[in-house]
Amino acid sequence: MKRYSAFAIARQALSHHQGWERAWRSPQPKRKYDVIIVGAGGHGLATAYYLGKNFGITNVAVIEKGWLGGGNTGRNTTIIRSNYLQDPSAAIYEKARSLYETLSQELNYNIMFSPRGVIMLAQTQSEIRGYQRTAHANALQGVQTEWITPARVKELCPIMNIDGPRYPVLGGLWQARGGTARHDAVAWGYARACSDMGMDIIQQCEVTGVRREGAKVVGVETTKGAIDCDKLGMVVAGHAGVLADMAGFKLPVESIALQALVSEPIKPCMDVVVMANTVHGYLSQSDKGEMVIGGGTDGFNNYTQRGSFHHIEETVRALVETFPMLSRLKMLRQWGGIVDMTGDRSAIISKTPVEGVFVNCGWGTGGFKAIPGSGWAMAELIAKGAPGPLAEAFTMERFKRGQFIDESVAAGVAH
Ligand SMILES: Cc1cc2nc3c(=O)[nH]c(=O)nc-3n(C[C@H](O)[C@H](O)[C@H](O)COP(=O)(O)OP(=O)(O)OC[C@H]3O[C@@H](n4cnc5c(N)ncnc54)[C@H](O)[C@@H]3O)c2cc1C
Repeated sequence: MKRYSAFAIARQALSHHQGWERAWRSPQPKRKYDVIIVGAGGHGLATAYYLGKNFGITNVAVIEKGWLGGGNTGRNTTIIRSNYLQDPSAAIYEKARSLYETLSQELNYNIMFSPRGVIMLAQTQSEIRGYQRTAHANALQGVQTEWITPARVKELCPIMNIDGPRYPVLGGLWQARGGTARHDAVAWGYARACSDMGMDIIQQCEVTGVRREGAKVVGVETTKGAIDCDKLGMVVAGHAGVLADMAGFKLPVESIALQALVSEPIKPCMDVVVMANTVHGYLSQSDKGEMVIGGGTDGFNNYTQRGSFHHIEETVRALVETFPMLSRLKMLRQWGGIVDMTGDRSAIISKTPVEGVFVNCGWGTGGFKAIPGSGWAMAELIAKGAPGPLAEAFTMERFKRGQFIDESVAAGVAH
């Protein structure tokens, strides 16, 4: 693979940029792989990448029914932070956040990581208590966050109205090294690196069945034929339940559409990310100038990837009191993604009842920020057959044992 650099751009300019090679190959599937990963979203591709990088396992196929990054990875509002409450969450999200810091250099692909800072607004007394508790927990976990006053919130984000009549801003939880990255570039960067290691990324290929011999997996059925494997990683977010069903077990996961929208582009007016969980909306400004607005989940389980009109109204109405300037903007487009929600709002990175099958799901409304850490932990689980320190608390057995990783304050349907 040729490296991307300023010199390469200059060289390519001489031939009118006709000489660039494809970022990843599109091969036909081989008969057998050591590991098959189902799902070429960020988590699946990161898993494949760290299998190669950390464990030297490169006879790997990543199988995707659509196009890579076309699931939630390419549909999210790109918020990255690690200020979670529980120790296992803080550990994996902080690992991910720290990997994001140098991911562009590592992958030689500009993922546009922008650590512009994230404020989670406290607009009720219970949020003050919740976020102050999280700030104390973060101090013990070594995650850098701080509780800030309303005046500091206003200083960081001048377009905000902190004196709203119903929900005044009472303070905030601030993570200065949180921020955003370009979501599809994360998928593309990992895909390019995987392809360069000799892995096969097979798009437009749906897994339709999981083949077993007794209790052990031996391969998958796909729309491009049967493919054998020794180990199978299911990393399909909102379709985790469907894949588990094919393998013959159940997951404690529900699938729901989560929506987002963007406004017309405007001049730069906001250089932090703001999450307002009480009124339920979150906001940042993209490099193109659009205000990126995240809303809530639908009130019922479904598999749609569409937006709906009442969500625009609900979300924008909620945010207008805190951001009055939004009322003068036109909304440009909206969309939805199928998120996979667990009861404790934490992910599952786990062995399963089927030998050789591993599952990574349950990232729900907030898994973009976790991609590098999740891939790291899932690769270790698949390579060693047992979870390492990052993944061990995220086993699906925790629901039987009642050992929940309760993140309903830090995550809920926030990001
Ligand atoms: C509107 C919205 C906003 C969000 N905002 C944020 C945010 O600000 N910050 C944050 O951290 N997170 C956010 N998230 C959550 C985040 O996007 C997800 O947690 C994360 O992208 C999940 O990545 P993934 O790789 O697990 O899943 P996906 O990217 O969905 O990838 C799974 C892939 O599996 C494929 N697949 C499914 N079934 C099959 C099959 N049978 N055969 C082959 N392939 C299959 C799908 O086509 C898909 O490409 C948001 C999500 C949405 C929808």
